[in-house]
Amino acid sequence: MEKNPSVSLRVGAGAHQGLVREENQDRISRIQSPCGELFIVADGMGGHEGGATAAQMLIDGLTEHLRAVPPEMPPDEALRQATERANADIFRRARGSDPRLARMGATGVLALVQGSTAWIAHAGDSRAYLWRDGQLTRLTRDHTLVQRMVDHQMLNEEEARHHPDAHVVTRSFGQRAEIEMEIAPALELLDGDRLLLCSDGLSGLVEDAAIARVLTEQSDAQAATEALIDLALRAGGSDNISVQLIAVQTDAEERPAAVPVAQEPHRGLPGALLWVPLILVLVLAGFMLPWRSWLAPAAEPQPSVREPAAPGEVVPQVPQPPATGPNATGPDATDPYAAPSAPETGPPPGEVPLGTDFVETEPIGTPPPRDGGRP
Ligand code: CA
Repeated sequence: MEKNPSVSLRVGAGAHQGLVREENQDRISRIQSPCGELFIVADGMGGHEGGATAAQMLIDGLTEHLRAVPPEMPPDEALRQATERANADIFRRARGSDPRLARMGATGVLALVQGSTAWIAHAGDSRAYLWRDGQLTRLTRDHTLVQRMVDHQMLNEEEARHHPDAHVVTRSFGQRAEIEMEIAPALELLDGDRLLLCSDGLSGLVEDAAIARVLTEQSDAQAATEALIDLALRAGGSDNISVQLIAVQTDAEERPAAVPVAQEPHRGLPGALLWVPLILVLVLAGFMLPWRSWLAPAAEPQPSVREPAAPGEVVPQVPQPPATGPNATGPDATDPYAAPSAPETGPPPGEVPLGTDFVETEPIGTPPPRDGGRP
């Protein structure tokens, strides 16, 4: 009879407001549920007040709904049910009486880990990566306008990063009554694997190759997390930055053959047809509006636009230390899972909340390795 390997996780977690934004609208969380341990990175959208509320509602809703599912429910089904309910909560609230919350939403990436198996789910442009055998693989495909253009080979990754529509997401929590959550097939975790969850404050500013270098050089999960945040700050820190790094240790005597990781499907047009969109892009470069309407299916709501740094805002050249870790300062400097005071009770519109503090949702910091596999 085959024995399941016992698995322990070492988790690095960190969040930083960045160097430009007036508040942190990202939220991160780590929760226990009947169907496994859930790691979340949520990134709020919808302007002041709304974005932070939506991200916090996503964390709270997933926590509540995932803990309520019957333990016998398959994890991917539980994840789907919890995300649908959390989405409905945000959607309802966004259409309530509070105008400050109108059109709020959040992108989210989740990793549900049960024993040596992980389920990755996402909506929007928060990402999951797998680090295995010295290779970094992206596990999620951004739900963004520019990703569609990359898929159609109209842009390359670098052009997409700097594109004026880089902030336009086509799928997120709270934007529609029903969410189209993308849940990847179960991923069998191997000894030495590391799962990275991050908001676009990291992946939008730092190239995958640079992320991979940090993971090569830093074996400690928390040290690697802080190094990644530092990298985003050095790249300008123009957005909130959130990172969770989950390092897997198993007692498996023999490392099983690597399972194939979901590769980005090739969706390019065949042969000579490739030239048609490329030429059209060149001709219509100055007329993005028609492209948007063509690229965004009529059935989807208006894509949500994140708030880019305000024009004229000065990006400081000297990075600040991350909000977490040994160099951290401030009241919640050692608590990466702590969140700002509840957005509902925040200052009135127009007032800038101070500080980078977070509300705690779960135990803090780097937990000791858990021994023994989970049921
Ligand atoms: Ca963001």
